[in-house]
Amino acid sequence: MSENAQKIRLIMDLRRQGINDTDVLSAIERVPREQFVAPAFRDQAYENIALPISQGQTISQPYVVAFMTQALKLDKRMKVLEIGTGSGYQAAILARLCRRVYTIERYRSLHREAVERFQALRITNIVAKVGDGSKGWPEQAPLDRIILTAATETIPDALLDQLGEGGILLAPVGQSQKQQEIVRISRDDDGRFSEEFLLPVRFVPLVGGVAQ
Ligand code: SAM
Repeated sequence: MSENAQKIRLIMDLRRQGINDTDVLSAIERVPREQFVAPAFRDQAYENIALPISQGQTISQPYVVAFMTQALKLDKRMKVLEIGTGSGYQAAILARLCRRVYTIERYRSLHREAVERFQALRITNIVAKVGDGSKGWPEQAPLDRIILTAATETIPDALLDQLGEGGILLAPVGQSQKQQEIVRISRDDDGRFSEEFLLPVRFVPLVGGVAQ
């Protein structure tokens, strides 16, 4: 089956699984996932599965990327912070749907490779840095949306503080070796937080500090 046919099959699969936001589906269709996976996995780029990237990390399953992106309720004016750049795929999807994406990765090598991909694809509205994402990006606060793509037992206070009023934060919450749940935290216009549990998932853990 050609890459294009595999892509169409994936989009149909996502629709069947309840992804109905046409902007999200169109972003999945346009961002070339095959360029974010290792060459050895290229023929599986449009399978609806997570795949390994270097440093023992993963590029998330397309369904989870689509689900989280849809659950963020983005619009074109928004500033979004992503914790866990990984391959850069989720950031590239977000970049099509908002004004600017700030993304933080703790592995220098993953950060470097992701930045090379953004340049090769001429994506100009992603700002990436190496760091411990649990501290957030205070200079860019308040943020309209924050998405964690690594699992945490508790959501770091720094991230809640940096979420603007009317903002949404999404994170896989739970122990790293077990199943976690995508939690959506909404901050209302008075600064109060509320939470919803959306989807069982399994993510690699959020780890403090910077690595090579
Ligand atoms: N969003 C990525 C993508 O589209 O390929 C997938 C992310 S992968 C599931 C989780 C990433 O979070 C890993 O690359 C890992 O190194 C990173 N990570 C873990 N703890 C972190 C932290 N404290 N700060 C920044 N990145 C972190």
